[in-house]
Amino acid sequence: MTRDEAKRELGELRGLLGRYQHEYYVAGRPSVADIEYDRLFDRLVCLEREFPDFVCPDSPSMRVGSDLDADFPEVEHRIPVLSLDKAYTAAQVWAWMNKSCVAAGRRLSFMMEEKIDGISLVLYYEDGVLARAVTRGNGFVGNDVSSNARTIREIPLRVERPGRFAVRGEVYLPVGVFEGLNAGMQTPYANPRNLAGGTLRRNKSSETAKVPLRIFVYEGFFEEGPGYEAPESHTAVMEELRRLGFAVNPRNVPIPAEDAASEERVAGLIGDYAKARAGLSYQIDGLVFKVDEIGVRGELGFTGHHPRWAIAFKFESPEGLTRVLKIEVQVGRTGRVTPVARVEPVEIGGATIENITLHNQDYINALELSEGDLVAASRRGDVIPAVERVIEKNGESPLWRMPDTCPSCGAGLVDRGAHRFCPNTEACPQQCKGRLIFFAAKDQMNIENLGGETIEFLWNEGMIRDIPDLYRIPYEKLEGCAGFGKRKVELIRQGIEKSRAQPFEVTLPSLGIPEVGTKVTEILIENGFDSVDKLFDIAARNDAACLLSLYGIGEKTAQRIIEEFSRPETRTLVNALQAEGLSFAAEKKKAAPDAPRTFAGQTWCVTGSFEGWKPRDLAMEEVKKRGGKVVSAVSGNLTHLLAGEKAGGSKLDKAKKLGVTIVTEAEFRALLDNSP
Ligand code: NAD
Repeated sequence: MTRDEAKRELGELRGLLGRYQHEYYVAGRPSVADIEYDRLFDRLVCLEREFPDFVCPDSPSMRVGSDLDADFPEVEHRIPVLSLDKAYTAAQVWAWMNKSCVAAGRRLSFMMEEKIDGISLVLYYEDGVLARAVTRGNGFVGNDVSSNARTIREIPLRVERPGRFAVRGEVYLPVGVFEGLNAGMQTPYANPRNLAGGTLRRNKSSETAKVPLRIFVYEGFFEEGPGYEAPESHTAVMEELRRLGFAVNPRNVPIPAEDAASEERVAGLIGDYAKARAGLSYQIDGLVFKVDEIGVRGELGFTGHHPRWAIAFKFESPEGLTRVLKIEVQVGRTGRVTPVARVEPVEIGGATIENITLHNQDYINALELSEGDLVAASRRGDVIPAVERVIEKNGESPLWRMPDTCPSCGAGLVDRGAHRFCPNTEACPQQCKGRLIFFAAKDQMNIENLGGETIEFLWNEGMIRDIPDLYRIPYEKLEGCAGFGKRKVELIRQGIEKSRAQPFEVTLPSLGIPEVGTKVTEILIENGFDSVDKLFDIAARNDAACLLSLYGIGEKTAQRIIEEFSRPETRTLVNALQAEGLSFAAEKKKAAPDAPRTFAGQTWCVTGSFEGWKPRDLAMEEVKKRGGKVVSAVSGNLTHLLAGEKAGGSKLDKAKKLGVTIVTEAEFRALLDNSP
């Protein structure tokens, strides 16, 4: 290659990589797969090595891809917050280990950690208090997202260590939580990482608090002071972080020097992990290998892009080419109609993919997808099948469009937001079957031995039509059916019988009433709405206000509860299940003997902002922990209003008129100190 050719290609690569970095880190909507980005990045590094005089300081290889966001204040990092060098084979990891040992002049021990696929966050502590939480940014300057980070329960707000120290960690969202949240979104996120990133950058921390983000910490940078020292190894740093209350990944694997000396053992460790990762509840995109001794790390140093004392082994995240045979629609238990691409079977990352969900019409429009197109498919985050882009149009079929009628019952479909629904709730066969499958599922009534296929069979044979029918299955008739032997039928019967004893906390969310899941049920019970009769009463009085006063219940949920419990069909369903012995009232719980119930009998509301509780919901958690009730509106039942800075307006005025006790932040802290 001539120097001119190299110069031209380098220019093109830098332009392309710059664009992809912006789409990935800032917009959160990458347009190319990681593997393609990594291929271009490796090509850039390779060319720069061959033509070192073309290397310029703003090359993507010389700095960290920036995720800076103009909506948040920028702060300078006190530590270098860099990316990682990459390896794609065990041999490359082992070669890097050897190179580190040669540089140190002796055999070294290492740590192997999961490379969590999330958002990098740096936590700065000063004299035991979380002073600031900052994103990676460009490695030198990051965005201050402290208020949002404080909503992550795994981040300690206070720790027992004086002086200053910084902690690096990865904020992530478990796959199961992601799928649940994403299903309800107008424009679904591509993967848990993007949703975690978007959540951490919300303008309101109360919005961030709604998503149960998690964090694993993986580096600590401790300053020394009188009476406290900095640990000398990564292992000791991790132990100290664990002692201070941080979430340290329990699956970190120390690699002693003798194991690190064997290429076979290193390859074995990587191989075992590649298999085990399918069972994890969160996504990882590789493994990270790190030199354990902090002193040696100092000697090895950094480039502008990565530390020399660590390397990431990246798992392959391959794509496959396949053809969309047809696009069909599925009707879910809530009536939502979802398009699904049936594709020619294609093997991606060890799994055969035949069906790919396409979410809604907007999603299909963005892909410009038609039946018959040749597409690149992937498993996003190595799990969720997705169509990445159209490779070749088939030229004949038009852009695919959602149907106007339900494929299950023929009813006319209606649009709600970005999704289309079948309104025939009671009679649409797909919706009925969906509700039955949901009711029996493991996370709901947990009816053992009654899976989706059996329910489908019972439905097709006309033995069940609605949920109460599950408790009246004609077992003698079922025993005569092909594939249903005596033992199998007995196991089904036992599973169903056992489920009659499920408590109200389980039976209510299992009905599949929109908005009434486990969390809402818990809030209702906690606040005394502990039976279905009380919910029917509220609905009869159309008393949405009384639900809205409950902490954690919003307008949409309150409205939905009123609507659903006003429907005669809900009454009929509950009556029939009660007749079968199912519980629709919670059992009274005995208070734990040692629970500090100093706020019992009090009803609190909060207004304004607080120095010590960001978001202020955290202050209300303290009230609840001590037996107090929390409401979101000021009413005659209120006993205390916690009024912070900038408190004012209607809540404060109304509370004063009603003679409610107004409590300041300092007074509140004193109350808590007296009620540890
Ligand atoms: P990286 O993949 O180079 O890895 C570094 C990051 O790993 C760290 O910043 C840290 O946040 C994280 N990490 C997770 N667990 C860790 C642990 N145990 N120890 C240390 N670090 C840990 O991250 P990057 O520089 O943000 O991104 C580069 C990668 O992102 C590329 O390889 C590519 O796959 C992807 N990318 C894709 C596009 C695209 O358009 N598709 C664009 C830019 C980047």
